[in-house]
Amino acid sequence: MDTERLRITLFGAVQGVGFRPFVYRLAASLNLPGWVRNSGAGLEIEVEGQAGELTRFLERLDAERPPAAVVLGREISRLAAAGFDQFRICSSTGEDPPTAAVLPDLATCPQCRGELFDPADRRNLYPFINCTRCGPRYSIILDIPYDRHNTTMRGFALCPECERQYADPLDRRFHAQPLACAACGPRLNTTVESAACALRDGLIVALKGIGGYQLLADARQPGAVEQLRRRKHREEKPFAVMMPSLAMVKEYCLVSAAEAALLQSPAAPIVLLRPAGRPGIAPNVAASSPLLGIMLPYSPLHHLLMEAFRYPVVATSGNRSDEPIAIETGEAHARLAGIADLFVDHDRPIARPCDDSVARVIGRRETVLRRARGYAPLPVRVPKPLRRVLAVGGHLKNSIAIAAGRHVILSQHVGDLDTPEARRAFEDAIAGLLRIYDFQPELVASDLHPDYASTLWAEESGLPAVRVQHHQAHLAACAAENDVEGEWLGVSWDGAGYGTDGTIWGGEFFMARHGVFERFAHLRPFRLPGGEAAFREGWRPAASLCRQAGIPRPVPNPLEQMLAKGINSPYTSSVGRLFDGVAALTGVARESRFEGQAAMLLERAIGGVTTTGAYPLEHGDWRELIRKVTADVEAGVELRLIAARFHNALANWIVEVAGQAAIHRVVLSGGVFQNAYLVERATSLLEAAGHMVFTHQRIPPNDGGIALGQAVIAGAL
Ligand code: ZN
Ligand code: ZN
Ligand code: FE
Repeated sequence: MDTERLRITLFGAVQGVGFRPFVYRLAASLNLPGWVRNSGAGLEIEVEGQAGELTRFLERLDAERPPAAVVLGREISRLAAAGFDQFRICSSTGEDPPTAAVLPDLATCPQCRGELFDPADRRNLYPFINCTRCGPRYSIILDIPYDRHNTTMRGFALCPECERQYADPLDRRFHAQPLACAACGPRLNTTVESAACALRDGLIVALKGIGGYQLLADARQPGAVEQLRRRKHREEKPFAVMMPSLAMVKEYCLVSAAEAALLQSPAAPIVLLRPAGRPGIAPNVAASSPLLGIMLPYSPLHHLLMEAFRYPVVATSGNRSDEPIAIETGEAHARLAGIADLFVDHDRPIARPCDDSVARVIGRRETVLRRARGYAPLPVRVPKPLRRVLAVGGHLKNSIAIAAGRHVILSQHVGDLDTPEARRAFEDAIAGLLRIYDFQPELVASDLHPDYASTLWAEESGLPAVRVQHHQAHLAACAAENDVEGEWLGVSWDGAGYGTDGTIWGGEFFMARHGVFERFAHLRPFRLPGGEAAFREGWRPAASLCRQAGIPRPVPNPLEQMLAKGINSPYTSSVGRLFDGVAALTGVARESRFEGQAAMLLERAIGGVTTTGAYPLEHGDWRELIRKVTADVEAGVELRLIAARFHNALANWIVEVAGQAAIHRVVLSGGVFQNAYLVERATSLLEAAGHMVFTHQRIPPNDGGIALGQAVIAGAL
């Protein structure tokens, strides 16, 4: 068994309560080397040892912690061993600005849930029960310091009984800023029963949640789901489902221990799970996806509704497709009027939109795919101190970041910046982050793409602007969260990013040497007829790939002309577009209804097949691969074998390049690495060849992680 290093950051009331000596004694009793220190973020621990010992350390860290400590959040990263020889208590560095003040929204804790359903409790059935261990934080904070008068609770004066709890240091609700009860706190406009009733009747309910409105429908009724799709203009993109209990999740899905822990964590994200094949969920909930996105109730209001309804409910962001989530009551009624049949509102304002987060267990490890409620704005600790940078992210799945010292704070997922509403949300996110951290950036970092709305904003900001290449930003993000420094090989694969030569990149290898990136290898470029407009139309790259591989195929005449003359057909080295092309050639998907759909379907097509067979993809030249794929399709070879051989070809190519680079450490980033099969296959082959592999954990591999990489690269300049 290899030695691993855990980095654990504890957030909350963890300083001045005897936590550091406790950690020291615990590590000493288990004979694990490492260190502990207080920091601006809370308490940081690093400890290394074998996996089993580290698990015991984590269990006891939780179970035996000092009674006065309140742990509100915990982030764990698994890192390469650093070779510690003993355990030390380090002094605080003072180099970090205090970032502990703003914490994410946390799912209802077990005690509050108990009180919620306890008829003898003062807050029995009160939909806004919370305490210092749970409840809203980031979604209610307006300004610093984090006191009630700086939150959206400032309009609610505490009743005498709540006041007593707020002021009592021995009470679980001591200084709980969102503290409330039925006598003094926020109220619903309707009853939970009427909402449950509407769901039973197949109606669509708009519910004001923690970070914005959600649209709910009975997940068992195809008619209700269809209605929601039609009204929301969302044709195929899978919906997430909320289920009343973990027991029910286990009836519908295959749930590993890691997945169960993730579902029940304080962040309570949507977890992508494999369906167990049991009927009951309407097929149109996630027809085009191999996975089901499942979450458990995370607010008292959700607990009450799920208790009343008792069945799975589709829960999706309260918006029309491609617009930001609605947060204000009046605005929500205007925007959702044609979608929802019933509104469940309340009078606690939401300070900023924050969608439900999405996570997936890849290779037995949690990977956050959409970082929002429950995670944002926890800081990421980076290896080297950075300048004061505002990073504005990419264009799709946008998020922004601020960096100062050794902490980078990544905002919640903002979304695609295609609409004026989205661009306003983007500007609000920037203004909000600067305000609550009282942050004055000295420079702004953006993508190299000249036309991204985020790049244009950076250019007009009046601050010195640094443009960071898209795929280098992906890799810098993954390296930063995994504490990788020095020399390493980066594999940056996604759908598209602006290359330094002005073409569309997306199948890139970089040698990174102390922060300097050199393009080391890339996919053989091919023409993309239609350019960026063709991103979701796999039949276009399919036609282009066949033409360049010398395979005669009937192609619509205008397309033939475009390819022959190179009109509006820029070159791309994108692996994402290669996925689209192969998905089209195999008949898996001629086009994608949402980004990444074709690749998802191709991954699903593998099923459980195990083969080491692979198509040739030497030096990233796909011509022979395309010939073999088309021949296999014509010969009637099973789709799952074709799909597996294609994935294996990509994994083999990574190992080939890593061998050429003769470098130990390999970092994988970019949206393509949301593909669990590819990540697991590439990792096991690389490890067998003696490499060490680093993948994303807390930060999305997709463009949602770009801002962190921009901040790291620009902040080191
Ligand atoms: Zn609580
Ligand atoms: Zn009260
Ligand atoms: Fe990307």
